Amino acid sequence: MPDKKLSIAAIPGDGVGHDVVPVAAEVVRAAAGACGVQVEVTPYNYGVLRYLEEGKPLPEDVPGLVRELAAKHDAIMFGSAGLDSRQPPAVNCRDLLVGLRWVLDGYVNLRPAPLLHPSFCPLEKKVPIDLVVVRENTEGVMTRLGGNFKKGTPDEVAIQEDINTYKGVERICRYAFEYARGHGYPKVTMADKHGSLIHAHGLWQRVFWAAAEKYPDVQGEHKFIDTLCLELVQHPDKFGVIVTNNMYGDILSDITSGLVGGLGLAPSANLNMETTCFFEPVHGTAPDIAGRGIANPMAAILTGALMLDHLGCLKGGEAIRRAVEEAIGAGERTADLGGKLDTRACGEAVRKRLRV
Ligand code: NAD
Ligand code: MN
Repeated sequence: MPDKKLSIAAIPGDGVGHDVVPVAAEVVRAAAGACGVQVEVTPYNYGVLRYLEEGKPLPEDVPGLVRELAAKHDAIMFGSAGLDSRQPPAVNCRDLLVGLRWVLDGYVNLRPAPLLHPSFCPLEKKVPIDLVVVRENTEGVMTRLGGNFKKGTPDEVAIQEDINTYKGVERICRYAFEYARGHGYPKVTMADKHGSLIHAHGLWQRVFWAAAEKYPDVQGEHKFIDTLCLELVQHPDKFGVIVTNNMYGDILSDITSGLVGGLGLAPSANLNMETTCFFEPVHGTAPDIAGRGIANPMAAILTGALMLDHLGCLKGGEAIRRAVEEAIGAGERTADLGGKLDTRACGEAVRKRLRV
């Protein structure tokens, strides 16, 4: 990558985001710096800190804020949104997270789950695991469309709409095949439930198989989502790239994370090649450990590697992944992975191993 300056917005948000994002940003800066790319990190207080200062975690105009952040920066690093003991349960910065997805139309949620150490897989039979969940990120049942009728009465009706568009399904299937081809995976597995959700997942069937025809070098495979959950825990080595809808992808990526060491190691990227992208670990605010300096920063650090990949600093992303693996191999880990390091020391263990 040519000599370049990158501008990153860092938004820890709520809870454990404050433990891991500053540490991850430091590693990203060091890795990019070693590749001759200068990274300028601008921290933003949206979330619990803003709530403590101003009584509200976010400004009124969240879409406007998202557009402003996207215009100012090359990418956005986000921590987590949700429960934080410093604010009431109903207060959090989830609207910003959702705004980032929808306003920026980050339709690809890429969640790689490679097994970095054999001991991290809870299965007795040790097999190599290299899973990548490609989750549709803007549609499905998570659009908040719907409503309640006769709310609070015994006759209450609740409707949650499931939105699936040709455009949305086509672009995520195409991305999955492109990703498989670009990263040397022999097949793409699509998971749905078209036997029951005949309309919505009938569309997924037609669009997926049409996409598969355009990639003769990559095998297309279909699994029903329940079957895939079963087979993933029985034979995780039989799968690679998995493409699915928003809700199934959310759930599936917790399973894939669980197979390779848990949420402390699970990164995620929210991508749309035409606009500013944002990057956040899979985990939430981890209220049980937030603020104690013991969280595993590797999920956020590996998320930073995905960000550098996306920004074209491929050597920086690779250096981070290698350094994380080496630190793990040397036993330099946080408590969730059986180690003794705190968050900062773990970040430092990765940083000092960066080599490009
Ligand atoms: P969680 O991901 O916050 O935590 C689940 C478990 O994993 C906890 O035991 C936690 O301690 C552990 N964990 C998470 N991150 C870790 C890390 N970096 N190192 C070590 N252990 C880690 O999920 P939850 O407890 O179900 O949800 C807490 C809050 O987060 C809720 O308000 C939820 O809505 C929200 N949430 C937000 C996001 C997001 O911001 N993208 C994702 C999931 C959940
Ligand atoms: Mn989730």
